[in-house]
Amino acid sequence: MKRTKRSGTNGGAPALEAVVRAVEERTAAGRSTLAIFDLDGTLFDNRTRTIFILREISEKFDGKAPELAAAFERFQDLSAVDYSLDVTLKKMGVKHPAEIAFIKQEWAKRFFSDEYQKYDMPILGAKAYVERVHKAGATVIYLTGRDVGRMLVGTTEVLRLYGFPVGVAGTMTIVKKEFEQDDEIFKKEVSEYIDRLGEVMAVFENEPANSNILHARFPGAASFFVVTQHRPGAPELEPGIRQIQDFRLPKNGARPG
Ligand SMILES: [Mg+2]
Repeated sequence: MKRTKRSGTNGGAPALEAVVRAVEERTAAGRSTLAIFDLDGTLFDNRTRTIFILREISEKFDGKAPELAAAFERFQDLSAVDYSLDVTLKKMGVKHPAEIAFIKQEWAKRFFSDEYQKYDMPILGAKAYVERVHKAGATVIYLTGRDVGRMLVGTTEVLRLYGFPVGVAGTMTIVKKEFEQDDEIFKKEVSEYIDRLGEVMAVFENEPANSNILHARFPGAASFFVVTQHRPGAPELEPGIRQIQDFRLPKNGARPG
């Protein structure tokens, strides 16, 4: 499966390492530190969730989505999956308005549900890195626009499935109470609460707007922008936010002991 072009090394690795060291130092001094990780597009690639759902729709509702079914005869890789489902369907050659409306309705039922989150794929190195930050002593905060009612159980399940620290001491999952709540306002409000818990050492986001909000709110934290997919028409990233492709660290970068 293809992704955007990338080199074998992660240019952000030294900065990622620096966060771990800084957390270790503060932990040794008995201080509370925090690291904030968004999920969708930051720790997880959601394109696989969408493709599984579309495949299911094309099989299950055979006659109702013929153009989608035909698209799977040509399907080659995940580059067909865009941030917007409309764009994805267009790229896949699905043009009939009634079929599009039907697919969107069936997709939304599944995409925003507990059951389908296991089809997300962790971004390279994400699990190992979160684990390191957690082991260094920071409280790992999963801060996501997913909602309690439909997605909390699946969120916890998929984190556990891939071995991310979850549910244990030094972790916290913060989701939205209501799905309809605006993502940016939600993250802004929650960050005021987070600020009272300890020193935020690092924030990780894939939405430029959220990245800018968190960077402004926690100017002392290292701010990372994960280059995956994001909402169209997003603002420019503020200076000082570091772009990373993934979370891989050099193999020999692990410290002894
Ligand atoms: Mg996101």
